[in-house]
Amino acid sequence: MLLLKDMDWIFSYVPFVLLFFLWLKEQCWILRKRKKRQGFLGYKLIYADQKGNKREKDFGKLLYSKKYDIQGKPDYIFQKRLGNAIIPVEIKSGSIKDDNFPHPGDRMQLATYFLLIEDVYGVRPKYGRLVYKDYMFDIRNTIAIRREVRRTLANMRKMLYTGEGKANCSVASCRYCVCKGTVCPYWQVPKQRKVKKAE
Ligand code: SF4
Repeated sequence: MLLLKDMDWIFSYVPFVLLFFLWLKEQCWILRKRKKRQGFLGYKLIYADQKGNKREKDFGKLLYSKKYDIQGKPDYIFQKRLGNAIIPVEIKSGSIKDDNFPHPGDRMQLATYFLLIEDVYGVRPKYGRLVYKDYMFDIRNTIAIRREVRRTLANMRKMLYTGEGKANCSVASCRYCVCKGTVCPYWQVPKQRKVKKAE
């Protein structure tokens, strides 16, 4: 009994420790796959790529970032009712099934919106959401993904300027491409490597 009484102070700290680990878990994720669901609790819609019946001035507007010289129309942008946190959402027509990662092009599109939105709205989105028919992914706006998208944009501009480019052909990045096995000459590369290995 005496021992339990002495340990009282430990039990009183347990809820705080649990809360700390829950908070830590919430801070540490980079990508999470979830069952598809609609909307965000405590957020309001501040932008949609279509005008629809809404009268909000930004709805349907093409967003332009002078800083990065990029433009686009995210499907939806939500903002927290209390505070100014912003979340871009892209709706995709395909399914994900057992894949644990979103399509690379969709991921890059969302990452480009991170830069665009930060410049236009003056708020850096903490994360964005890709919604497929069956699942959705929350993707964190990390330093690494922002660096990756800036590098991709620079490569694309260089390609447009010089007319020369190098295809980043791999099983992962080409898996959903409609040009794979049809008109794309680069897709042969991983195939040949595979054959050579087999020999
Ligand atoms: S198959 Fe060709 S066009 Fe498609 S993503 Fe791969 S390299 Fe690009």
